[in-house]
Amino acid sequence: MMDILWILWTLPSVLAIEEILMDSTTATAELGWTVYPVSGTSDSSWEEVSGYDENMNTIRTYQVCNVFDANQNNWVRTKYIRRRGAQRIHVEMKFSVRDCSSIPRVPGSCKETFNLYYYESDSDTATKTFPPWMENPWIKVDTIAADESFSQVDLGGRVMKINTEVRSFGPVSRNGFYLAFQDYGGCMSLIAVRVFYRKCPRTIRNGAIFQETLSGAESTSLVAARGVCIPNAEEVDVPIKLYCNGDGEWMVPIGRCMCKAGHEAVENGTVCRACPSGFFKTAQGDEKCLQCPINSRTTNDGATNCVCRNGYYRTDSDPLEMPCTTVPSAPQNVISSVNETSLMLEWNPPRETGGRDDVVYNIICKSCGGGRGGCTRCGDNVQFIPRQLGLTESRVFISDLLAHTQYTFEIQAVNGVSDQSPYSPQYTSVNITTNQAAPSTVSIMHQVSRTIDSITLSWSQPDQPNGVILDYELQYYEKDQTEHNSSMVKSQTNTAVIRGLKPGGIYVFQVRARTVAGFGRYSGKMYFQTMTEEEYNTSIQEKLPLIIGSAAAGLVFLIAVVVIIIVCNRRGFERADSEYTDKLQHYTSGHMSPGMKIYIDPFTYEDPNEAVREFAKEIDISCVKIEQVIGAGEFGEVCSGNLKLPGKREMFVAIKTLKSGYTEKQRRDFLSEASIMGQFDHPNVIHLEGVVTKSSPVMIITEFMENGSLDSFLRQNDGQFTVIQLVGMLRGIASGMKYLADMNYVHRDLAARNILVNSNLVCKVSDFGLSRFLEDDTSDPTYTSALGGKIPIRWTAPEAIQYRKFTSASDVWSYGIVMWEVMSYGERPYWDMTNQDVINAIEQDYRLPPPMDCPSALHQLMLDCWQKDRNNRPKFSQIVNNLDKMIRNPNSLKAMTPLSSGVHLPLLDRSVPDFSSFSSVDDWLDAIKMGQYKDNFANGNFTSFDLVSQMTMEDILRVGVTLAGHQKKILNSVQMMRAQMNQIQSVEV
Ligand code: AMP
Repeated sequence: MMDILWILWTLPSVLAIEEILMDSTTATAELGWTVYPVSGTSDSSWEEVSGYDENMNTIRTYQVCNVFDANQNNWVRTKYIRRRGAQRIHVEMKFSVRDCSSIPRVPGSCKETFNLYYYESDSDTATKTFPPWMENPWIKVDTIAADESFSQVDLGGRVMKINTEVRSFGPVSRNGFYLAFQDYGGCMSLIAVRVFYRKCPRTIRNGAIFQETLSGAESTSLVAARGVCIPNAEEVDVPIKLYCNGDGEWMVPIGRCMCKAGHEAVENGTVCRACPSGFFKTAQGDEKCLQCPINSRTTNDGATNCVCRNGYYRTDSDPLEMPCTTVPSAPQNVISSVNETSLMLEWNPPRETGGRDDVVYNIICKSCGGGRGGCTRCGDNVQFIPRQLGLTESRVFISDLLAHTQYTFEIQAVNGVSDQSPYSPQYTSVNITTNQAAPSTVSIMHQVSRTIDSITLSWSQPDQPNGVILDYELQYYEKDQTEHNSSMVKSQTNTAVIRGLKPGGIYVFQVRARTVAGFGRYSGKMYFQTMTEEEYNTSIQEKLPLIIGSAAAGLVFLIAVVVIIIVCNRRGFERADSEYTDKLQHYTSGHMSPGMKIYIDPFTYEDPNEAVREFAKEIDISCVKIEQVIGAGEFGEVCSGNLKLPGKREMFVAIKTLKSGYTEKQRRDFLSEASIMGQFDHPNVIHLEGVVTKSSPVMIITEFMENGSLDSFLRQNDGQFTVIQLVGMLRGIASGMKYLADMNYVHRDLAARNILVNSNLVCKVSDFGLSRFLEDDTSDPTYTSALGGKIPIRWTAPEAIQYRKFTSASDVWSYGIVMWEVMSYGERPYWDMTNQDVINAIEQDYRLPPPMDCPSALHQLMLDCWQKDRNNRPKFSQIVNNLDKMIRNPNSLKAMTPLSSGVHLPLLDRSVPDFSSFSSVDDWLDAIKMGQYKDNFANGNFTSFDLVSQMTMEDILRVGVTLAGHQKKILNSVQMMRAQMNQIQSVEV
């Protein structure tokens, strides 16, 4: 194995260094080596003789030639040679030997070889007799033979044939040593002796510097040397090693260093040089520096990348070798084609792609006008096919827009670097107006109740009515029949009773809505079943105790049935299987009538957390992306953000957070809102998406309502809506409240501030938190402390203020106040009156007057809601019906007679000054800011309050008030004057 390595790894030769310890040829005087036997005795031994080398330089040599004498043993010993760290010693000998056969009559004892010995010693202690002249103590290195001997003799004397032999030995460890040459019967001349050791020289290999290293003790030994990376190189494999062999050669390189980023190898890999200006190298390696790509430059030498020039960018994933790029220009030649409430947009790609091939398009949708000023972002319900953002094709189909609405679409061209540019995205916008369209599909139908031969169904209004719904058409047939055998029922509300059905029959139902634009599409098929005879008989028996028992007993029974149903459902109560079982279980509601779920107070749970688990879906925080803070809630910030549930479309949501440092009680109160909200499912009640309780902060996630709370929304859009639009909002709120009342839920804080509005002007009841009623909260003046909690006085029915009788009827009172808030565009109920004044006024049967431009039918409905006796107030279902009638018959909203007779005395409208505080009609006109018409009034002979209070619209026109806004203002003030006069009279009575 070692042999193979040697073959593989022997490096191109870098000459080994030979370090001389002794060289006989450099001697300037006698060598003076010690000989044995001592010369001059009978046997002559080695003799020091001056001679010449092959270059005819004078040298000192030792010669011996006793071939005719037997038993020769002639030694010559060098002087003491210091080792100087060497472990292996090399001896180069130059010598000539006389060929025995060339000597006439030479005896057989003639030799042509000699022996080389060494002897180690820490100091120069040798004498003529020590070490003794024999092998052991001397150590024999080798017997040295000549390659050539000199046998020829020419006329000029002997021809010199010089042999050179090198021998080495080791390990040596003492401070020094002697060498000795033994002749035992030859004729020879030792011309030169050179003693040295070998070293591997300092070298740079594989990007590392290796210092000079002495070779090892054995000819086969390898001495490891550690390398150090050259400047600006870094280790790639460690350790970095080279081995120095016995001959002073480097071999077996291990590991390496490479020039680091921003530097390249030059001068045969011995130097790492910084990349010059305009060049870069991104990573460590053998590669050369590259020229900067287009639109980039370096700022200094040794650049690891080139920075983009101003206005040019790279994405994180762009390779540094790629040119820097810029943003695309705007899309071109946008063509739009509107079809009812859908739209096709097509365009040409931008002229400039910015040097990239990842241009995509985003569509921004804004709806403009619609009675409100400015444009607002479209809501989630607008559909984009194939998608709204990241379009790769230059076209998009947009549907589910509102009818008769002006929209602006911005088509943005973006590419991978758009988010880095302050001038991006470039876009082209188009304005379009949608046309009239039929209503969208009704999505959900519920069974409200059923008998043996009838089923009562209700459904939600289509998400996009696209106008006022005139009526609904319900188609139904027995499940075994086909649509050709279907019957039809019409309904002006969103409920219908279908009679004349078979006992136990399963029927297929579909419903569609109609507006002036025609019918919408039928809803999906839903299956409902009438009671079987058997069920009917059982239900009669179950009702018996109700009929004969007291009301209280009936209530206990009702709750018991609810509990039984809940328990049965929780335990997976099994019904007889049929092919419709799933759907029937979903849409039928057992024996209960009216078939509605009943609200369960989360605080009736022993562990309120159990209620959260029961009614609110836990959402993993990774599905929630918070975007911005939009408001402050009772317990922490309210934010907008996105929710992406697995397998569902991403949706915009509102996120209520619980601020840190909460107590357990605060957490419970905070989450109680979710437990309540989670029980509701109605288009006019804010929808709970879920809760985050397993991570911090704790959150409640609901659908997002683009226009925020109703009171501030109305204040921001004062006077901008038609009466029908306002009534539409009120109808939605009443419908949500009907649903809550049907579930036995009493809101207790119905007010415009607790209604949220989405981008389609759909109003939803919200704020189911209970905490604001707590005694110790004094931060909000709307809620006044009363015995046992806090009460929003201006919105609360007298019986609830006086003895905490909160019922759906007290919610109806609050609803009347909400109506007043809506019709007055967010005016504060009872203006700046104190709470005590409000309580006293109500007690004396004063009621709020109609807001400006409020149809009398609506004010009458408000007054009905404010009936002192709560039993005389309308139910929410009646309010919904009443409002539906008004919507279907807009003429009913034309009448503006502001006053109603009867027990309700309207309060003085504080927004219109009380005429009695002015001494003349002129002063009164100044106070209502209509002073410019003083002459008109005088010329028309309207000079006294009595005359002015009788003015009609014709009178106002006749005196020359031509501006519609001024006509309204004056008429309203005149009506107010009349009301104030009536009040004075009533009080006097
Ligand atoms: P609340 O704690 O419910 O009174 O919320 C405080 C404020 O946050 C409200 O007045 C709204 O302006 C805003 N807000 C709450 N819920 C939503 C929502 N679902 N969509 C939009 N804004 C909301």
